[in-house]
Order: sequence, then C-alpha cells, then structure tokens
Amino acid sequence: MTGPTFRFAPSPNGELHLGHAFSALLNRDLAKIQDGRLLLRIEDIDLTRCTPEYEASIRADLRWLGIAWEEPVRRQSEHFSEYEQALARLVREELVYPAFMSRGEIRAHIAAQPEGGRNWPRDPDGAPLYPGLDRMLGGRERRRRMEAGQPFAWRLDVGGALARVGRPLSWREYQDDGLTQVGAVDADPEAWGDVILARREIPTSYHLSVVVDDALQGVTHVVRGRDLYHATAIQRLLQELLGLPSLHYRHHRLLLDPDGRKLSKSLRATGLAALRSDGKTPDDVRRLAGL
Ligand code: GLU
Repeated sequence: MTGPTFRFAPSPNGELHLGHAFSALLNRDLAKIQDGRLLLRIEDIDLTRCTPEYEASIRADLRWLGIAWEEPVRRQSEHFSEYEQALARLVREELVYPAFMSRGEIRAHIAAQPEGGRNWPRDPDGAPLYPGLDRMLGGRERRRRMEAGQPFAWRLDVGGALARVGRPLSWREYQDDGLTQVGAVDADPEAWGDVILARREIPTSYHLSVVVDDALQGVTHVVRGRDLYHATAIQRLLQELLGLPSLHYRHHRLLLDPDGRKLSKSLRATGLAALRSDGKTPDDVRRLAGL
C-alpha cells in the first residue's frame, strides 16, 4: 500500500513568509510521520503576477528550511490545455455558462437593488454574489454574443451543478495532528454563487486547476490555511462533476501579525528572506511558527 500524498502549492507572486513556512513544514512533517510523499506545485496561472524570480526564491527558501520535494515540479502555467479539457467537459454538460456582465455592470445592477444593494448576498470572502442574469440567456443569444466577440467568463451554474449531483456534499476535515478526523463538514457551494471557472485572459481558475491537479498528481491529503476552508465547498462540487476523488482536508490556523491580521506577502518583516538575513535559523522559524 502506498502512503498518503501531500502537497505544498504556493503562487509565485511574492516572497514566502512565516505563514507559508508553517504550512510547508506542516505538510512535510505529516508526510514524514505517515511515510507519505510531499509534492511541490507552482500555482502560476496568473502570468501577470507570477514570475520565475519568485519561483526561484520560493525554492531557495524551502531548501533553506530543509524541505525536500519530488522533481519534476508541476508548474500550472505549463498545463493550460489540461484545464481546458476539464472546462470543455463542463461546457458540454451545460454546467457552466458564458457570463457577459462586466465588473461595472455587476456593480450597477447591485447598486440598483433596494437599499442600494446593501442587503445583496455576499460570498464567504465578503464579495457580492454574481447576479447570474446571463444564466437565463437563450442558446441563440449566447452564440450571437460569443460570435460577435463580446468578452465573457465561464461561470459555474452552481444550482444546476448541485441538482446534477443530486445529493448533499461534504468533506473529511482533520484536526491539528492531521490524523484525527474532526468529522464530515457540509459543503455549501451556493454560498459562493456562480463562481468564475475560466476567463479570457486566464483560461482557467484557481478552483479548476487545483481539483484537476490534485487528482492528476494523486494527492490524497490537502493541508492548507484556514483562509481556504470555504473554498473547499466549490472544489468538492467540481470533483463530483468531473468524476475526481474526494480528498482528506486539514485547514490549519493562520499566523497573524501583531495587529491580529493575516500575514501578507507585502509584510517584509516576516518574510523568510528577511528572517534569514537577520541571522535566524530554520529551527528559529519552526519556533516562530509555533511548531
Ligand atoms: N496557491 C494557493 C495559495 O498560494 C494555495 C492553493 C491550495 O493550497 O489549495 O494561496
């Protein structure tokens, strides 16, 4: 029997900080005690923000921490055609629709609602839900707009998708030790509304690439920050629609700055490069991360 497969999946759009170190070390520790594998995946679908320099610094920081991973590393920007295939399946099955409303049109639509849209539903990250008007467009009108070159994004018809699955979805969440199951968490993908799965400038999305890659790479255990807890609902739904296995999840605590805010890539003080040049050792980093 093969052991579990973990992954650390950073986006090379900035330097790693203490929070990333915590996540990477946790994945490594769990892989080690369970005799599992650790993969590194570079999530660089946003070619305007991700750079080879950041990727090189991520690798250098991880090596400095003493983390080893399997080569070759999967770099998402080299696999757009695989995400397109998954999207094509959802298009064929009419689970996604072309959404033509621009950001400005969405804002105006919401602002025109009672009380200026103040009660308009918001997603778990606080963004207003997509109005979903284009879900109702007829096939002919859709084709006409697409042929006329009107810009659009592919959005998941979340209601239709749930109806297709036909049963409530959940995922297995684990405790801090990564071994003890907390229990089944009910997935509520509708809380996100009709999310974008692909855009014109980026022919995929975080959600779509992650579920395709996790399955393709044989990942069994997803250990990542609490900020992605609710995103799991959409990912579970996509796994179900694409016939991909459901995984084990552990959403770990987030490291906070002295003001109680989540660490960010712009905060230099907790950057691994800064800590290293301050003379801190990998053991200091473990301690600072509370490991
Ligand atoms: N690439 C994502 C990030 O850097 C993490 C994705 C994941 O672990 O599912 O926040």
